[in-house]
Amino acid sequence: MSQNSIDSLLSETRRFAPSDEFAAQSVAAPDIYERAKEDRLAFWADRARELHWHSPFTETLDWSNPPFAKWFADGRINVAYNCLDRHVLAGNGDRVALHWEGEPGDSRSYTYAELTAEVKRAANVLLGLGIGQGDRVAIYLPLIPEAVIAMLAVARIGAVHSVIFGGFSSDSIRSRVADASARLVITADGGWRKGKVFPLKSAVDAALAPADGAEPTTVTDVLVVKRGENTVEWTEGRDHWWHEAVAAAEPEHEAEGFEAENPLFILYTSGTTGKPKGILHTSGGYLTQAAFTHRNVFDLHPETDVYWCTADVGWVTGHSYVVYGPLANGATQVLYEGTPDTPHAGRWWEIIQKYGVSIFYTAPTAIRSFMKIGRQVPNDFDLSSLRVLGSVGEPINPEAWIWYRDVIGHGETPIVDTWWQTETGAIMISALPGITAAKPGSAQTPIPGIVIDVLGDDGTRVDPPRGGLLVVSEPWPSMLRGIWGDPERFIETYWSKFSKDGVWKYFAGDGAHVDADGDITLLGRVDDVMNVSGHRLSTTEIESALVSHKIVAEAAVVGAADDDTGQAVVAFVILKSNQADAQTADEASALLRSHVSDRIGAIARPKRVFIVAELPKTRSGKIMRRLLQDVAEGRAVGDTTTLADTSVMQIITDKVR
Ligand code: ATP
Ligand code: MG
Repeated sequence: MSQNSIDSLLSETRRFAPSDEFAAQSVAAPDIYERAKEDRLAFWADRARELHWHSPFTETLDWSNPPFAKWFADGRINVAYNCLDRHVLAGNGDRVALHWEGEPGDSRSYTYAELTAEVKRAANVLLGLGIGQGDRVAIYLPLIPEAVIAMLAVARIGAVHSVIFGGFSSDSIRSRVADASARLVITADGGWRKGKVFPLKSAVDAALAPADGAEPTTVTDVLVVKRGENTVEWTEGRDHWWHEAVAAAEPEHEAEGFEAENPLFILYTSGTTGKPKGILHTSGGYLTQAAFTHRNVFDLHPETDVYWCTADVGWVTGHSYVVYGPLANGATQVLYEGTPDTPHAGRWWEIIQKYGVSIFYTAPTAIRSFMKIGRQVPNDFDLSSLRVLGSVGEPINPEAWIWYRDVIGHGETPIVDTWWQTETGAIMISALPGITAAKPGSAQTPIPGIVIDVLGDDGTRVDPPRGGLLVVSEPWPSMLRGIWGDPERFIETYWSKFSKDGVWKYFAGDGAHVDADGDITLLGRVDDVMNVSGHRLSTTEIESALVSHKIVAEAAVVGAADDDTGQAVVAFVILKSNQADAQTADEASALLRSHVSDRIGAIARPKRVFIVAELPKTRSGKIMRRLLQDVAEGRAVGDTTTLADTSVMQIITDKVR
C-alpha cells in the first residue's frame, strides 16, 4: 500500500446496465477491450486506417525521443478532407452536417456537400491572403457556422488555428496572438448573447493596436464575418469582409495530404489553476482518437442520430466533439449560438424537441443550474428522442447524474461521464454505453487502447479500493505534442513527477479513486485536495455529499488553514430556487454540516458553510476553488481574469466578511 493516498469516503452502490435492446445495436462490441489489449498499437493503427490517407503510414508510434511522440509519422493526411469531401464522395453529400440555431431564432442548415463547398472557397480566401502550411490563424468568433468553416479551411491548407473564446477580452487576444505569432485573425462584427449583440471586432482592433512595451503585432489581415450587424471601425488594407471574400473566391480547391504530425491547432487551457498553457495538437493521431471516441463513446449511428454537444468551439470539447470527431464520422449535429436561458429557461429543451436530438453532451455546471431551477422546465418539452447523454468538464456529482438520467433521459438513457483534458485531445476514460453497467458519478474505464494508472506519491500503484494520482502510462494518439514554444514547461508540468528509468508517465494533475471493480472515479484536482487532521480529503466527494441533500443545487468546497486541524473544510453552497427563502442561512448551514457528517463521516464535516447565490466559474463553467480559498483564508482574491463574471467574487467576499 502506498503512502499519502487520498482518502475516499463516499461509496456508490447504484448500477445501471444498458437495456438488451441498446446493447444489441451498440457500435462497440464487448470484445473491443480485449482486442485493444492484445496489440495496442495494431488496434490504433486499424483505427487510423478507418480515415482517408493521401499516402499510407508504415510506422504507428515513434517514441524514440520521449516525451515527444510521433504517430503515423510517415503517412500523409488532410484533416478537412476527412471531415468533408470523403463523405460527399461516399454518396452522403445530402446528409445534414450542421443544423445551426441562432440565439434570436434564425436558423441555417448545411449538408455535407454545402459545407464542403463553403470550406473550399474559404480555403482559397486564406491562400489568397498568403496563408500557407504552418502559418498560425487566430479565430475569435461566436458559435456560428463560420467558426466551423474557418477552422476546417485553416486545417485544409495545412495551417494552424488558435481559437480564442468569443467572450475573452482584448488582453487575452493580444497575448494569445503574440504567443503564436498569428498572421491572420478571423472574427465577426458581433454575436448574440442573452438577447443582445455583443461586439467582437472592437476587441480585436484593441488587441492589434500598438501598445506601450508590446512588440508590434504579427497580424497583417483580419477577416470579418457579418453577424451582429453592429457598426465596426475599419482599417483599410488590413480588414476584409468574410462574405465578400468568400463570394469572390474560386469554388474549387483540391485538398493535399500533409505529414501526419503537421500541427493542426494550438489551444489554451481554461486556466482553472493558473496561467493558460498553449497546448499543441497535430493531425493524424488527433483525428484518429477524436473520431474513434466520438463514434464509440456516444454510440453514434451517423445515418439516424442527431447529435448535440453544447460546448463552444473556444474549448477543446468544441474542437474534438463539435468539429473534428462528429464531422470525421459524418454525423448530423446541432449548433446553438446563445445562452441556455434566452429567451426562456427551456431553450435547450426546445432545441432538442425541434431537431429530435438523440445524443446530448454537456457539462455538470449546466446540469446543476437546471437542477436549481427545477424539473418543471424540461418536463414541458418532448425529450423522447434522446438515447445517450454525456457529461464533461468536471466531476459529475452522483445526485446530478441521477437527475440528468431521470429528468432529461426519461429514466432510461445511458450516461457517459467522460474524463479528458485539453492536453489529452480526446476522451480517455469513459463508459461505453452499450457495454458498461454505469455507476453514477464515476468515469469508470479507460477507453480501449488507453492505459491509465492511479499512483501514490511514491509512484507505485495504489491498492484498490483507494485514491491517488491519475497518470497515463503509455503514449496515446491524440496526446499533446507540446506547449507552444516552451518544451521545458511541457516536460516540467506533465512528465517530471513520475517518469524515471526511461519509463515515461504523464501526470494529469487530477486525483482519482479506484474501487474494487477497477472503476475510476475522479476526485478533483490534486491542487484542491485538502489535508484535515492528516487525512487527505477530496473536494469532489464532500461537494457530492452536499449536493445529495434535497435543498442544495450546487456546492464548492475548499480547505482553509486551521490552527487545530491543519486545514478545515469550508463549503460554499447554492440552494435550489424553491429553497432559498424556506429557511435562514444559519439553519441551512447547520443542517448541511450534519448531513455531510452522516453521509461520509465526522472528519469531512465542514467547519463553515456559506450560503451564496453564485460561485466563481471560468468561462467554460468550471469552479475556481483557489479564489474561494483566498476568501476562506481572508486573503486578497487572486487573479480573476479567466472568470466568467468578475463581480461574483465581490459579492461572495461581502457575504463572508
Ligand atoms: P488549466 O489546466 O489551465 O488549469 P483546465 O484544467 O480547467 O485549465 P481543461 O483542459 O479544459 O482546462 O480541463 C481539464 C480538466 O477538467 C481535467 O484535468 C479535470 O480536472 C476536469 N475534468 C474534465 N472532465 C472531467 C470529468 N468527466 N470528471 C472529472 N473531472 C473532469
Ligand atoms: Mg488542466
